[in-house]
Amino acid sequence: GAERPPLLTDEDDGLFVMAAQPYYSSGYMTIERQRQTLPAFKHRTPLLYLIENHATTIVIGETGSGKTTQIPQYLVEGGWSEGGRLIACTQPRRIAVQTVAARVAEEMHVTLGQEVGYSIRFEDMTTPGVTKIKYLTDGVLLREMMEDPLLVRYSVIMVDEAHERSISTDILLGLLKKVQRRRPELRLIIASATLEARSIAAFFDTSAERRSQSQAMDLVFPSRKPAILSIEGKTFTVQIFYTEEPVSDYVRDAVSTVNSIHKLEPPGDILVFMTGQDEVDETVQLIQHETENRHSDLVALPLYAGLARVDQEHAFGPIPRGKRKVIVATNIAETSLTLEGIVYVVDSGFSKQRFYNPIKDVEALITAPISRASAQQRAGRAGRVRPGKCYRLYTEDDYTNLMSAETVPEIQRSNLTSTILQLKALGIDSIMRFDWLASPAPEAMVRALETIFAIGAIDSDAKLTSPTGFQIAEIPLHPMLGKTLIASCALGCALEMVTIAAALSVQSIWVPSRGRQKELDEAKLRFAASEGDHITYLNVFEGFLQSQRSAQWCHRNLINYQALKKVEDIRSHLSKLLQRLGLAVKSCERDIKVIQKAIVAGFFANACQLKISVEQGCYKRIRDGEEVFIHPSSVLFRVSPKWIIYHANTVTERHYVREITVIESPWLMELAPHFFHHKSMEY
Ligand code: ADP
Ligand code: MG
Repeated sequence: GAERPPLLTDEDDGLFVMAAQPYYSSGYMTIERQRQTLPAFKHRTPLLYLIENHATTIVIGETGSGKTTQIPQYLVEGGWSEGGRLIACTQPRRIAVQTVAARVAEEMHVTLGQEVGYSIRFEDMTTPGVTKIKYLTDGVLLREMMEDPLLVRYSVIMVDEAHERSISTDILLGLLKKVQRRRPELRLIIASATLEARSIAAFFDTSAERRSQSQAMDLVFPSRKPAILSIEGKTFTVQIFYTEEPVSDYVRDAVSTVNSIHKLEPPGDILVFMTGQDEVDETVQLIQHETENRHSDLVALPLYAGLARVDQEHAFGPIPRGKRKVIVATNIAETSLTLEGIVYVVDSGFSKQRFYNPIKDVEALITAPISRASAQQRAGRAGRVRPGKCYRLYTEDDYTNLMSAETVPEIQRSNLTSTILQLKALGIDSIMRFDWLASPAPEAMVRALETIFAIGAIDSDAKLTSPTGFQIAEIPLHPMLGKTLIASCALGCALEMVTIAAALSVQSIWVPSRGRQKELDEAKLRFAASEGDHITYLNVFEGFLQSQRSAQWCHRNLINYQALKKVEDIRSHLSKLLQRLGLAVKSCERDIKVIQKAIVAGFFANACQLKISVEQGCYKRIRDGEEVFIHPSSVLFRVSPKWIIYHANTVTERHYVREITVIESPWLMELAPHFFHHKSMEY
């Protein structure tokens, strides 16, 4: 392990030492003392008072001020977990849930999963009767509402990172407002890193609503007027630098900026913001390469959501003394995770953002300029331990004139199929009249309703069907995949389908292959099925089991061992869930046709026909004639079968479809006659 400086004695002034010796890792002070130096600590008593007296409390505080890790602990100390009640703290991202829960367990000197636990999709690390603080994704809390609509197990629900405005956060806030009317004893805390929270405060202000005589204003307890508490942090000034000219390659520019900081500036860690995993890896490699060439002492570490747990921990851990740490991260380091010791920030000015086109029914992941609010957050990361510097790889003119003030809420730029089905399952009959924090585009809502109607989850009155609709809603997957699973039970191939669905739910079962595309293509060929990608996944998983789950076997075949372990885990979750729904999980014993048919039963709306006499791999989507192309990652890329069905689509240079299975056209009429009987099909 790394050597740690001696702990402070009680006489030492923690604050002073922190300012004077800013870039030691967190082992420097005892955890107890460190907790007391956090800005949140000064507000502990007023905070508990506000929570006691207001149904909703909004907490605004800089990243690192102690909102996520401290407030739930204060609540335990304040008695909110007594009587077996739970304190929930939601996060938009899984990685934040795990990291923060681990940190808080450490602070409380308990084993993770006991008093402090977490829950993410397919992984529940809590102990009933023991757990007091539960970190979870907002998506998981929404799922819990299906079993327990009033969330009666919880005494306090803290919705964290509210400024991010993820879809689930927005939906959750809308629903919690309803729950509050039925459960006045429930307390909500909404935590945000920005002032954007003011609109959320207005949303929760129900104090002006009409009441009966007995509920005169001053008799209402707790107050229905949200309290707002600002935890002013001890932040230092951050000097901002812009480029003179627009930058053409921000990866290269980031690397050279890092190098000149290292050459010219005093010690202090560097945080670089890139848009995605590929760019992060590339930047890390370039920095390492230069480091080797120049014999400098930079240590570059990646940080993004798809990273394995051990690699995540590197970013937070200490590095050899005398070296400078460079963390290259995606948006995730903007507010949800706190990194110690950052003094310099390099901001590319971009992030990957989702945009949904309801007409073409396709989402695009676009590298787009961030908002000014984001840029400010990123810069703020540099001012936590002492005055810092932020190097923006864009011009001041672009900052002022090109960037928008705030990021558009995710709900207004996403496909809503899952969301709408979930709202239906939660008894929200009129989607259009739901109390939206920000209303989604009507076209997107209509498209979502059409999809869930087509798969039979709602009837013509837009009511959830029984049992199909309820069953699909129970499955924590996209409704079309949920429908496929249910169909597979009837068709007798659910054992295979849970494996396929699990494989579709992990990031990728292949190892990242930068610069090794040919090798990866060859590895894929070893498992490639003529029926397409779904069956290929099945082959890979069967090979994995035959190898007795060998990590070496995975390595040889460029398969991601961790991902396959996860697949195994998810498939067992799914198969238990199907059994709980009273459905039969059987094997089809290599009768591949029934698997293909089950896929058709859920994804018929994504059926496509090869176009004659045009570019290779060009297809027409049956339902609307939209032109799509097979993505190069598919094993069917060069095969071009006549009829296909796809799992996912995305727009980059073209409208690409991926995860593809070959189908026979009569199956469409057989399995989805209601959808196809009036659509013309050419044979
Ligand atoms: P906020 O939610 O307000 O952004 P947090 O509660 O996440 O702040 O973090 C408060 C402080 O706890 C940070 O400033 C840091 O000192 C410490 N901290 C948080 N997470 C970790 C971690 N994983 N490792 C070490 N220290 C951490
Ligand atoms: Mg936080």
